[in-house]
Amino acid sequence: MDTKADFERRWMDVSAQVNSACERSGRSPDEVRVIGVTKTVSSSALNFLLDVGVRDFGENRWQHARELLQHPRAKEATWHFIGHLQTNKVKYIVPNFAFIHSVDSVDLLSEVEHQAERFDRDMYALIQVNISGEETKYGIEPDEVRALLEASFKCSKTHVIGLMTMAPAGATESVVREVFRSLAALRKDLQQSLGLDSLTELSMGMSDDFEWAIEEGATMIRVGRRLMGG
Ligand SMILES: *Cc1c(COP(=O)(O)O)cnc(C)c1O
Repeated sequence: MDTKADFERRWMDVSAQVNSACERSGRSPDEVRVIGVTKTVSSSALNFLLDVGVRDFGENRWQHARELLQHPRAKEATWHFIGHLQTNKVKYIVPNFAFIHSVDSVDLLSEVEHQAERFDRDMYALIQVNISGEETKYGIEPDEVRALLEASFKCSKTHVIGLMTMAPAGATESVVREVFRSLAALRKDLQQSLGLDSLTELSMGMSDDFEWAIEEGATMIRVGRRLMGG
């Protein structure tokens, strides 16, 4: 069983790496939101995470999230839904989460907007893009992003603020960096061609590659194992 000191040490290590990646790329650590991915921890770890200063939690499954959300301090964190989302689960996600990183269809976007209106709650969404072309990965093709963004212009409660991707597992540094660089270029291109100043976020980078992601422009990194252990 991990102690608070274990979480503290890992958080300090991750923070130090975030800081040096920012320094190397001339960025400020304030530009990078570190999301602790809680999918492997039980709710007893939430106290430790909150105590050591983690303020953003990421979950990829509603079944697990609903347990953690029972924690008396759950509201002290900002919750990010980062996994594949079925439309019939959106009604549970919207009231509990601030950000959804995995919007990948017009149907899903419409349901998020519908529930956001119902709960009278502003939602922040990112479009998940399958940059690497891996068949097992969720997300839409890069050339489909524009149409989904245009569909989002009709939404009043759902604010699409950026793009998300996952690098292929176990790929070399140059392949992973190329994936991140492509997402950053796509964001910039869409921001300029659609005049979308609000498209500011890049959610990319996990335990094995968040330093490269920061150097390539990530504004949100999703860190599981390196922070939670295991
Ligand atoms: C599990 C998960 C992460 C974190 O992965 P680690 O390699 O443990 O850091 C990040 N993003 C998504 C979408 C995940 O499912």
